[in-house]
Amino acid sequence: MGLPISIEFFPPKTPEGAEKLRAVRQQLYGLKPQFCSVTYGAGGSTQQGTFDTVGEILTEGMDAASHFSCIGATKASVRAELATLKAMGVKRLVALRGDLPSGYGLGGEFHYASDLVAFIREETGSDFHIEVAAYPEIHPQAKSPEADLQAYVSKVKAGADAAMTQYFYNSDAYFRFVEEAAKRGATVPVVPGIMPITSSSQLLRFSDACGAEIPRWIRLRLQGFGDDTASIKAFGLDVVSDLCEQLRKGGAGALHFYSMNQSVATLAIAKRLEQT
Ligand code: FAD
Repeated sequence: MGLPISIEFFPPKTPEGAEKLRAVRQQLYGLKPQFCSVTYGAGGSTQQGTFDTVGEILTEGMDAASHFSCIGATKASVRAELATLKAMGVKRLVALRGDLPSGYGLGGEFHYASDLVAFIREETGSDFHIEVAAYPEIHPQAKSPEADLQAYVSKVKAGADAAMTQYFYNSDAYFRFVEEAAKRGATVPVVPGIMPITSSSQLLRFSDACGAEIPRWIRLRLQGFGDDTASIKAFGLDVVSDLCEQLRKGGAGALHFYSMNQSVATLAIAKRLEQT
């Protein structure tokens, strides 16, 4: 599609899910991603599933990034997990704070992702390529837009090599973020996170919680389709392909696809981009 891509998966919860994901990965490998990443449940809740899936991807001959969240973790536990990942041959990490479900005490020795990035660099030097999260539409818990930008800059200064964004449907927010971060000295690549649109209610529910805005015109169109999933998918394909095209034209150097462990929507967007 003319741009390097990476593809994100979450660890499956059942053997059937794992089997289905293997097939999905094979379909998506046809897009020749630079690497595939696997999410990590905050508090270590999916650690084994994350590491197992990362291991499978490496065995399949694909580069893999393990997401790694630090909320609630101790230095000793992070040190041990880094050693495990290194022994597995993992070279890429997505370093995150994560979110603990309400009711969990914070505990732990890490407060922010910047603490984790600094710790990984101290402990392992340049063994890992480290990506961090970026929020063009501002993280929901940020004290202010400026504080959030500064938080991003501190992750880069702590040693991040690149960033992947929360998904968004307004490319101006992305371009503005890249510009503002660069003005503050953070010039590492910021790869847009792309969320295909395949369902209405799920997207609308999820977005409220994670700091991604669904523009009014997209929200209303989606609501207008009701249960007509074919129309939702066709509309979603148009909207997200156009967004990718704007990002490509505007100079984004790569795209990171949130596959949601499905192949169809990502493949359709890639095909559309090849035709433009
Ligand atoms: P941080 O960068 O630490 O920021 C968290 C909040 O703290 C922000 O509001 C920031 O403004 C603020 N902040 C940061 N530093 C300071 C400071 N020094 N002083 C005051 N405030 C500060 N979650 C998972 O659980 N598992 C995953 O695998 C996962 N993968 C993700 C992948 C991507 C690409 C993205 C964009 C998000 C992912 N998330 C994942 C979600 C992420 O964990 C949450 O958004 C979480 O709330 C913030 O994590 P962070 O690493 O961005 O945190």
